[in-house]
Amino acid sequence: MAISAVRRIVIVGGGSAGWMAAAALSVVLQRRVEEIILIESSAIGTVGVGEATLPTLRAFNASLGLDEIDFIRKTQATFKLGIEFRGWNPQRTFFHGFSDFGPDVRGVSPHQLCLRARAVHDDRSYADHSITSVAAALGRFAPPVPNRESILGSYSYAFQFDATAYAAYLRAFAERRGVKRIDGRILDVRLRPEDGFIEAVLLEGERTVSGDLFVDCSGFAALLIERSLRTGFEDWSKWLPCDRAFAVPSARTGEPTPYTRSTAHEAGWQWRIPLQHRTGNGHVFCSSYVSEDAAAGTLLAHLDSEALAHPKLLKFTAGRRRESWKRNCVALGLAAGFLEPLESTSIHLIESGIGRLIELFPDRGFEPKLAEEYNRLMARNYESIRDFIILHYWASRRDGELWRYCRNMPLPEGLRQQIELFKARGVVALYDRDTFAEPSWVSIYFGLGVFPAGYDPMANLIEEGALTRELERRARLVKGAAHSLPMHGSFIEKYCRAAA
Ligand SMILES: Cc1cc2nc3c(=O)[nH]c(=O)nc-3n(C[C@H](O)[C@H](O)[C@H](O)COP(=O)(O)OP(=O)(O)OC[C@H]3O[C@@H](n4cnc5c(N)ncnc54)[C@H](O)[C@@H]3O)c2cc1C
Repeated sequence: MAISAVRRIVIVGGGSAGWMAAAALSVVLQRRVEEIILIESSAIGTVGVGEATLPTLRAFNASLGLDEIDFIRKTQATFKLGIEFRGWNPQRTFFHGFSDFGPDVRGVSPHQLCLRARAVHDDRSYADHSITSVAAALGRFAPPVPNRESILGSYSYAFQFDATAYAAYLRAFAERRGVKRIDGRILDVRLRPEDGFIEAVLLEGERTVSGDLFVDCSGFAALLIERSLRTGFEDWSKWLPCDRAFAVPSARTGEPTPYTRSTAHEAGWQWRIPLQHRTGNGHVFCSSYVSEDAAAGTLLAHLDSEALAHPKLLKFTAGRRRESWKRNCVALGLAAGFLEPLESTSIHLIESGIGRLIELFPDRGFEPKLAEEYNRLMARNYESIRDFIILHYWASRRDGELWRYCRNMPLPEGLRQQIELFKARGVVALYDRDTFAEPSWVSIYFGLGVFPAGYDPMANLIEEGALTRELERRARLVKGAAHSLPMHGSFIEKYCRAAA
């Protein structure tokens, strides 16, 4: 071990962020650090929501060597092919799935082909070319086959799960690998006088825990990164004004849908996430446009089965810490920032933060360039997701005060340019490591009725009749492939049903 290697990592917080970090660091740093300690307070508890994920969670779980079937059973998980959006475009329901719209033809991307076809015929639905849209509408699911050439190998999937059970699952995993857990409330943080680095956290009962690297997973409290290191918060509520949510579980009904549903309401939207044993629901809303009582009423009125508890209120502000790595502290999860769960991105951002911390792992010298690079990458990650979420609100055609505000608000400069580019010729401008790729942006643009004035002129090189035949062939193939899949509920029943 190098003389200056980090010897002890102290993780503060035992929600999804804390236990995901503990599990991953215990695997990767096995012989490189002497001790990983996680401190959580069972008296304070966790935020207790966060049920829908992105496909990247599979890679995270695989990096830990978790058995997928066991994970599904232990977390009451169902499979997710994407998100259905209801009421966001009053004209129609649309789907954002984890698949593309087919291969390019002579270098022309599929949405450009659809745009040309739309210009010619006006009646072709691009969604018919998305295997996840069509399979989800049929309630069908099976994991993709290991052949990218086949339509049945061209999509991805994520999970809808019980986040509390996931944290417990990872806790058992991490403790088996030697992570030490302390249950206690942190009352104070001690900084080194000479450079302001965190030296130790002070717990009730006069216990002190010192460390070299501190990972702040203390949730909205942001105990280390904000209360102690005062990194500052970039507030994005002028673009994402929703600031509250009521969450409530309801009884399971019928076949679980292989997708999450987002239904737009007067001053926000409602999620519906089917798990094996219950359905998770919540209403994200803006308190400037609807009262808490009315928001809770809207949520309960739109459940499709009996509520199993009283709605729980959560308050938040969209934004992120100006630096999520400062000195010897790295913040993950809600301590690092918050974006509403419209595209199920928070757990993904935790994975991404952990991955980058591992890539840039410091020694006790804490070379400032590492923190700088981490903060640059995470800022880009948060901002690209933020812009993607803003697009949903800005492009929605709903009526109502919140929706009018969002339609007319000045956009972040990067997003404004991106939209202009798309509106001109259907170009989606992206950076390499952005979370959402071209098919995702196109799903939202087209779903909300944002169609460009022009399209890629290369598409005109394809003969009109040949293009029509190709698009019809694709739609037929997709339909046939989707119908060949088993029903989602039957698949779970057969392979990964959780114990009662
Ligand atoms: C309404 C809502 C819906 C969401 N839906 C989704 C979703 O569908 N998909 C998704 O990916 N994400 C979602 N999220 C985000 C997701 O819930 C969080 O990102 C995730 O649960 C991680 O939370 P956390 O671990 O950062 O914080 P928490 O779960 O709040 O954990 C904080 C931990 O810190 C500890 N702690 C705090 N103060 C102290 C102290 N003084 N001493 C000791 N310990 C302390 C607590 O005990 C706890 O263990 C949602 C969030 C909200 C608010």
